[in-house]
Amino acid sequence: MAQVNLRKVVKRFGDVEVVRGIDLTIADKEFVALVGPSGCGKSTTLRMIAGLEEISDGDILIDGKVVTDFAPKDRDIAMVFQSYALYPHMTVRENMSFGLKQQRMAKAEIDTRVDEAARILNIEDLLDRKPKALSGGQRQRVAMGRAIVRQPKVFLFDEPLSNLDAQLRVQMRTEIKRLRQKVRTTTVYVTHDQVEALTLADRIVVMNKGRIEQIGTPHELYHEPQTRFVAGFIGSPS
Ligand code: ADP
Ligand code: MG
Repeated sequence: MAQVNLRKVVKRFGDVEVVRGIDLTIADKEFVALVGPSGCGKSTTLRMIAGLEEISDGDILIDGKVVTDFAPKDRDIAMVFQSYALYPHMTVRENMSFGLKQQRMAKAEIDTRVDEAARILNIEDLLDRKPKALSGGQRQRVAMGRAIVRQPKVFLFDEPLSNLDAQLRVQMRTEIKRLRQKVRTTTVYVTHDQVEALTLADRIVVMNKGRIEQIGTPHELYHEPQTRFVAGFIGSPS
């Protein structure tokens, strides 16, 4: 089980408060989309959950345990970024195995996990290729594979599809939906694409200027926006 709690989480850069007291509970196995305009604090919030950014105030809990001062590696979280930096000199299999090798996992177990993730992601035929011989969508799949093989408690995605062209984005959206049916891990998914949020998420968190504007199911946000901001943001898909 993996529940994530944010309690009055604040982030200041110098004098500027960019995350301004966020309270949020993400249930076990829930898929939450974090949306809002550029600069509203989405990535900063995600990085604080991952432990990549120190928090200025408040607490972050995983399964009821305060992890605010835990290093990223002690949080059992895997993050997928938009710039999916794969190691260019390694094959897909080596890229996906790398993190597990560092944990000194047995080779047989590593191979089993990589083969299973490759099957789920439809990249079984690409395992011996180097990243330069892959398309953008295939690379993004490998980046997801790297996260999946770790079997973390929590997945964090930061605009994973924003580097892809429109057609591929639609295809990958369907892929993520399919993946979700096979791997039900607690997920926080940052996007500025309303359609992505509406089609993928159990609940959507709308952020504006470092604060939460509204939290609800896609249906609730679409049909009962509580502010004009939410109505404008969710109601006008790009
Ligand atoms: P989003 O992901 O929603 O676009 P970010 O979380 O990246 O927004 O950024 C929120 C705000 O914090 C922005 O105004 C950004 O310029 C600022 N910010 C982010 N990282 C830093 C940093 N390391 N130093 C100073 N300001 C930062
Ligand atoms: Mg961002």
